[in-house]
Amino acid sequence: MTQQVVLASSNPGKLNEFQQLLANVGFEVLPQSQFNVADAAETGLSFVENAIIKARNACRTTGLPALADDSGIEVDYLKGQPGIYSARYSGPNATNESNNTKLLQALQGVPASERGARYQCVLVYMRHSEDPTPLICQGSWEGRILEAPTGTGGFGYDPLFFAPEHGCSAAELSKDEKGKISHRAKALQSLLSQLQ
Ligand code: IMP
Repeated sequence: MTQQVVLASSNPGKLNEFQQLLANVGFEVLPQSQFNVADAAETGLSFVENAIIKARNACRTTGLPALADDSGIEVDYLKGQPGIYSARYSGPNATNESNNTKLLQALQGVPASERGARYQCVLVYMRHSEDPTPLICQGSWEGRILEAPTGTGGFGYDPLFFAPEHGCSAAELSKDEKGKISHRAKALQSLLSQLQ
């Protein structure tokens, strides 16, 4: 039997990845837009807090179990920034391009050895809005920030993220390749084992 779960995100890139990764294990992932769930204000100061806020909001509106992820990129040279502010790094009207431009500027002249970075993903699964023990899973993906955007796949910071496993940018990986090694894939593996 298929278990419906609402994804507490409006990001089509993420929806796509979750649908692909969860389809084989009996979950039908539905976007929260299908239920007119208004985006929750991400007022937390950590990935965990923000993921719980988003999952609870989606459960409340839909009455269904909800899955939320909060993710971002931490850059060592910037002491972990942009972190939880990755989506809005370059301001309230940020785009992938403006975020990438700002990150490249912040790292101008910084040598490769100091451009270490990692994607972080926290996943929260709540059975209902009052769930006192949400499942919380985390995954990370180590890499470094390139000096110029490369590749056209993926989304967000992918053209700037060098994936050492494949020796290319995350935007040059196929969906399948990224789906095996990404921070989200690792958090999801952990979620699947907790669900089982
Ligand atoms: P969230 O939607 O609040 O979790 O914000 C996540 C932000 O982190 C995205 O908007 C991207 O800027 C960045 N991000 C997270 N995961 C990825 C990824 O797999 N590729 C590229 N950027 C990512």
